[in-house]
Amino acid sequence: MRWFFNALPYNHRVPEGSPTMLFRPSAPLINSSVLALAAALVVALAPALVATLTVAAQDAPGSAPRATIGTEPLSDRRVHYDLTAALDAETKTIDGTARIVWRNPDRVPVDELQFHLYLNAFEGPESTFMRESGGAHRGFQASSADPWGGIEITAMSLFRGDGAASDLLAALEFIRPDDGNPDDHTAIRVLLPEPVTPGDSAVVDLRFTSRLPEIVARTGWLPGPSGRPFFMVAQWFPKLGVYEIPGQRYVPEGAERGAWSTHQFHANSEFYADFGTYDVALTVPADYVVGATGVLVSGNADAAESASEPADAALPTPTKTLRYQAEDVHDFAWTASPDFLVHERTWRHVAIRLLLMPTHASQAERHLEATRISLEGLDERLGTYPYTTLTVVDGLGGANGMEYPTLITAGTFYGLPSWFRPLELVIVHEFGHQYFQGMLASNEAEEAWLDEGMNSYIETKVMDAAWPGGSVLDVAGIRISGRDFHRVSYTKNNPSRGALQTKSWEYAFGDFGKASYSKPATVMHSLEGYLGEERMEQFLKTYVAEWRFRHPTTRDLQDVAERVAGENLDWFFDQYVYGTAVLDYRIDRFSSRREADSVYVATVRVHRMHDGTFPVPVRVRFADGSTRERVWRGETAWANLTFRGPTPAVEAFIDPDDTAPLDINRLNNRRVSASERSNLFARRAQLRLTAFLQRLMYLIP
Ligand SMILES: [Zn+2]
Repeated sequence: MRWFFNALPYNHRVPEGSPTMLFRPSAPLINSSVLALAAALVVALAPALVATLTVAAQDAPGSAPRATIGTEPLSDRRVHYDLTAALDAETKTIDGTARIVWRNPDRVPVDELQFHLYLNAFEGPESTFMRESGGAHRGFQASSADPWGGIEITAMSLFRGDGAASDLLAALEFIRPDDGNPDDHTAIRVLLPEPVTPGDSAVVDLRFTSRLPEIVARTGWLPGPSGRPFFMVAQWFPKLGVYEIPGQRYVPEGAERGAWSTHQFHANSEFYADFGTYDVALTVPADYVVGATGVLVSGNADAAESASEPADAALPTPTKTLRYQAEDVHDFAWTASPDFLVHERTWRHVAIRLLLMPTHASQAERHLEATRISLEGLDERLGTYPYTTLTVVDGLGGANGMEYPTLITAGTFYGLPSWFRPLELVIVHEFGHQYFQGMLASNEAEEAWLDEGMNSYIETKVMDAAWPGGSVLDVAGIRISGRDFHRVSYTKNNPSRGALQTKSWEYAFGDFGKASYSKPATVMHSLEGYLGEERMEQFLKTYVAEWRFRHPTTRDLQDVAERVAGENLDWFFDQYVYGTAVLDYRIDRFSSRREADSVYVATVRVHRMHDGTFPVPVRVRFADGSTRERVWRGETAWANLTFRGPTPAVEAFIDPDDTAPLDINRLNNRRVSASERSNLFARRAQLRLTAFLQRLMYLIP
């Protein structure tokens, strides 16, 4: 079944049961990138259907399970990966092979391929990743003698239509497009002996060895409870960069040609890759439990049941090989451990597989329930989850809290009380990534907020709907919602620094997290406050429906928001997405005087404390309970607003319904007459507690 390094011309015939013939584009390119894209899609579609039918026919009656719902490709599938990985659990290395197919989507020939070798971020202290993170990425503390990892390509050749192969290894060259660090080996380029013509595919065969690091940045190994290693295997194979064609992302429509978008692996950056299909064979010790991206088409992912046999040290460890297929994804990750407890559930079309550490056995239902809530919450808000599988992994240490296509890692701790929900929050968050990171797949290196930030916003919506009031924490009358949780993290952490739209390696220290998670969540809650819940929902659904599998940019997101809003939103995006405006309105003075019988005039002096503006209502309440309200846009530094009512005014409140959580200090938004007692102290105490818990939760692995 595997067909690496064999003599099959890629475009000649479909090997038995292979799903790889998904594109054979040779159509003349039309002189408009949009049309070209559409044409490429059509060209891609037809063979895919043929291939699918072929596969189905060959495998009938017990045909292989599908990785996605429906029968048509969801993405334009510019890449295909055939991977094999043989894991040596003793040495923590993977012997890998790859056949990688890249289709030239441009209207001009392309003579260069670029790949990421992300694993080399962990090869030593001088990589850009380690330099930027000071070796302490999210609490990375190497405890073993040799914690380092890395990937080495040992053979690389271009497979040619005539059956010959050209060696590429000599042409392989490291590139450092972001910082020029000569010790960084996380990106390569390869000049091809001859260019790939438009619509044609380059087929590259590789052999590689991946040495897994002690867990760092959600990749690697750690000793498991049984003493045998747990593996989270991510960023483990050479992965193509994205060749962006004219009109795609920020490449001008009229550009002569596209360009590769490849970045080194940075401490703060995540990933960016093209959609395609994967066919992966994993060979692991027979008693290991495996979870992976995609759908299992052969092999047993659970532990082999031969544990009663006494192990014979002279015999090699028995292994098993599992084959997975994935469609319309841009990455493939997997995990393996002999310790996992396996729970399986079905939600609509999705087979859920929960892999749990035995110490957390009692929390299986919590995991499964949070998974159900995630699937339902995201389906309702952003549309159908199109894949047929979802694996939830309770891994170890730094492996937790990460998303890969159809596989997420969560994390909990023993004795987690039911009123504290970091576990649920992480599952909802990581599952939300299936939409933003998985399906929309924006460039995470250049525009991280489009993934983490939009996802953090949705996470609060799902959490706060599932557990109203205090979704993150709810104990003894103290309640912290997901929305407040992010809001405080933004307002308490240099709110004037770090624009959302910033390349992830250009943030000043400490600004990335805020600008990619909590601030954008708060920005989106404020946009919701402005648009109203209904239009906000429509904006999000439209954005996902129009842009899934197409790598949207910040500009694309704003375009959809403006179309749905029916108005220009530059004022909002310029301040809070592209800029670093800070919103803080304050009531300086509040007085009330009698003007005539039953006519009282309240004067509210409102003050814009920083550069940020946002239209909010200012409401005055009179002693008889009646209220008057008007909108203040903050266009001047201050203003005296007057309100007339039948009795003395007793309260003035800027944005009483909290439509603009971007306002960094709500304590100065309200004033009451001397006759009214406000309980500001309680509010302050609550804010302090929220800030404290925010910090505490960052310490939880
Ligand atoms: Zn995230």
